[in-house]
Amino acid sequence: MSVTSRSEFHDEQAAYEYLEARIWPHGATCPKCGERKRVSKMSGKSTRIGAYKCYKCRKPFTVKVGTVFESSHVKMNLWLQAIYMMCASKKGVSSNQLHRMLGVTPKTAWFMSHRIREAMRDGDLAPMGGDGDIVEVDETFIGHDTSVKRRGEKKGRGYAHKYKVLSLVERNTGKARSIVVNSLKADDPLPILRENIAKEATVFTNEASYYKKLDQTFAAHDLVRHGAGEYGRDQIHTDTI
Ligand SMILES: [Zn+2]
Repeated sequence: MSVTSRSEFHDEQAAYEYLEARIWPHGATCPKCGERKRVSKMSGKSTRIGAYKCYKCRKPFTVKVGTVFESSHVKMNLWLQAIYMMCASKKGVSSNQLHRMLGVTPKTAWFMSHRIREAMRDGDLAPMGGDGDIVEVDETFIGHDTSVKRRGEKKGRGYAHKYKVLSLVERNTGKARSIVVNSLKADDPLPILRENIAKEATVFTNEASYYKKLDQTFAAHDLVRHGAGEYGRDQIHTDTI
């Protein structure tokens, strides 16, 4: 069975159950007073999916209270699809893509992607350099050495087995993250950097031409001249400050 055919992506009830099992490992818990014993699931035709009632503070609640799903009318299974897409895609998913793939309005898609990104900011996937720190970007290649031509092999073969790895290092904290770029097309690093580095950051890269576009994205973009030994301060771009 493929991942996307899982019931929580298609059935709203199943989506709630999926979420409840994760947020309430000890059973439904009232978000207002913390009661676990005197709560019960509400039933009846006019009851919202996932509605519970607390008999201690007499308030109804759902698993959405206190989460990114709070006060949203989007079906929970669509939320889970959106989160799955945004986490599974290396390059990130735009809100326009969510709009087309989930069939929600552009405004709703924007709201969803915004909330999901906000939620990710606190976790391991949070963009680096959030407080205006310097983030250094370095490229390395791993894989077969193509410079050695083996007998019977056309020159250049094995190139496809080579990966480009982008290493991001936050200068103040030393926090590092490595991301494998599957293809070697020049445009590939940009969306990845936009996803992984905060807009407030100063970004140091090498002089590759595709990094020139970073000027419009981050607070500052500086070039590291390889071999020069010093950072090229004269080349700093501060378009957006
Ligand atoms: Zn309560």
